Amino acid sequence: MQEASEKEDFSLHNKIEGSQTQIIPLNDNVHITVLDWDDTLLASTYLDLKGLTLSSTAEEMKPFLGELDLLQTQVIAILSWALKISLKVFVITNAENGWVQKSCDKFMLRVLPLLKNISVVSARSLYESRYEDDPISWKFYAFKSELIPCVKMQRALKKKCCLFQMGDADIERNAIFSLKKECPGVIIKSIKFATKPTILQLERQLQLVFNHRDYVYSRKEDVDLMLTITNHSASTQNNISEHIPNKEITASAS
Ligand SMILES: [Mg+2]
Repeated sequence: MQEASEKEDFSLHNKIEGSQTQIIPLNDNVHITVLDWDDTLLASTYLDLKGLTLSSTAEEMKPFLGELDLLQTQVIAILSWALKISLKVFVITNAENGWVQKSCDKFMLRVLPLLKNISVVSARSLYESRYEDDPISWKFYAFKSELIPCVKMQRALKKKCCLFQMGDADIERNAIFSLKKECPGVIIKSIKFATKPTILQLERQLQLVFNHRDYVYSRKEDVDLMLTITNHSASTQNNISEHIPNKEITASAS
């Protein structure tokens, strides 16, 4: 996935995931990362379909603990990387205030300590009273109010900004690209996840992004990636296909 010329730019050594040494490509642009929560870091729709709630008992959760453990490992890898490359990391959700922390505590306890270093924003709680029944506007205005001041502050310091977002809905993708009008020169890196993933499908999508993290980080131009899950009737396996301009890569997901 990485081009030969980009590999030659590798010059900054850094630590990712504890003892594992990674070589991070140089990129002097400031990254600000914004992540969705439901169906982007937590497979909320799937858990809901399976009847799991914040009140579920340990016995009810037992069949899902193995898969949730795999997901947590990948979420920790992604969040640790995002915190390392970003000036600031946001989780901006359309869920109500407190849902991210409560659902993390319930379903992904190992991820919880990382939330201390992340700004968790409920777009719904901030904007529902002004834009009732309009979740597109909640996200849009939350993106504007949180991200534009960061970009302007960096511009005042003569730094170029990359806004990096991951989310499963078109809302987030549209909202992040709309900021180009108000922040001329900003670089947008967007990864749209597949909707309504199972726990393992979400885990594989995060793994795919993590495996290509150097590509995403090192780009100095807009990135607009979409992950899709394709069911093959002849097989019990699904495929996650990542479509990149002029490039395409496929990874299997169980
Ligand atoms: Mg979502």
